[in-house]
Amino acid sequence: MKRFGFCWSSLSGLMLLLWPSPTLAWGCKGHQTVALLAEKHLTPEAKQVVEKLLAENPIDPKLNRYCGRAGRDLMADASTWADDVRGERKNGPWHYIDVPRGSERGPLEPYCGPKGCVTRAISEQLVILKDAKADGAKRAEALRYIIHFVGDLHQPLHTTTNADEGGNCVPVKYFRRMAREHNHSYSPNLHSLWDTAIPDRDAEGADPAEYAEMLDAQFAADIEGWQKDGIHVDRWVWEGFDFAESVVYGALTPKIAVEPNVPVDSCSDDNNIGERLLHQNITAGETYQERAGPVAEKRIAEGGVRLAMILNEALRTAQ
Ligand SMILES: [Zn+2]
Repeated sequence: MKRFGFCWSSLSGLMLLLWPSPTLAWGCKGHQTVALLAEKHLTPEAKQVVEKLLAENPIDPKLNRYCGRAGRDLMADASTWADDVRGERKNGPWHYIDVPRGSERGPLEPYCGPKGCVTRAISEQLVILKDAKADGAKRAEALRYIIHFVGDLHQPLHTTTNADEGGNCVPVKYFRRMAREHNHSYSPNLHSLWDTAIPDRDAEGADPAEYAEMLDAQFAADIEGWQKDGIHVDRWVWEGFDFAESVVYGALTPKIAVEPNVPVDSCSDDNNIGERLLHQNITAGETYQERAGPVAEKRIAEGGVRLAMILNEALRTAQ
């Protein structure tokens, strides 16, 4: 999720149960699957450094973990940490890059705001991770950020916006679940569907380890090609942008027009975009899921394989 700076610690558990989180990106399952898939493709050398850094510099046990603790797997557990600290660290913009629908392919720097963006955050954290002389705790944090942000980058609505907070202001009726307004935010909304509902439904009850196993087998024939392609973070952003146009927005009924590129800080901006779209009764059911599921699968699989490529490269020389 994008900009809603929710502070979960001030909310009651009941509120958490009643209202789905607007703060996550790929939900727990998406991020943990990316991490578990990456683990399968780490070199022994990189895996050793990753495990050492994470084990020797554990996450603060007092931190409220939205996804709970992901069992004993350190990388899966690390994958959701960045969402747990985004409020206190005020670095929400590090989780996405807002490329407006209709943009022409080109350099991404113009879309990276003064508070940063996901592509810049990845390169900055990589500098820290690669520095074997840097403080271990700082390197472990950098590693946790990278594990999370490479996942985020592969969620198409983390690289695309339509003056709608990356789909957060697009109320969508999903199967039988009606879209409702609550305090100027909407649930379900297009962003939350892509974070959570679509991959969860696609996983058909598989846990992240089972889902990672399934995707690794399903994309076995493609993985070598992705690896040979090399590391091109900007290109991965544009791929997500293309999926956003063709499927994320493109498969909705009715279709949503391209909005003017205006700054939006809440769903009341852009002439009340949230409310305007609520009246359009946008729906996503079986037909949508059939197109969305394979895209979510591919992006999660690519996210995992590419995360491994980045870590293998970064940790080749740094110990
Ligand atoms: Zn995130």
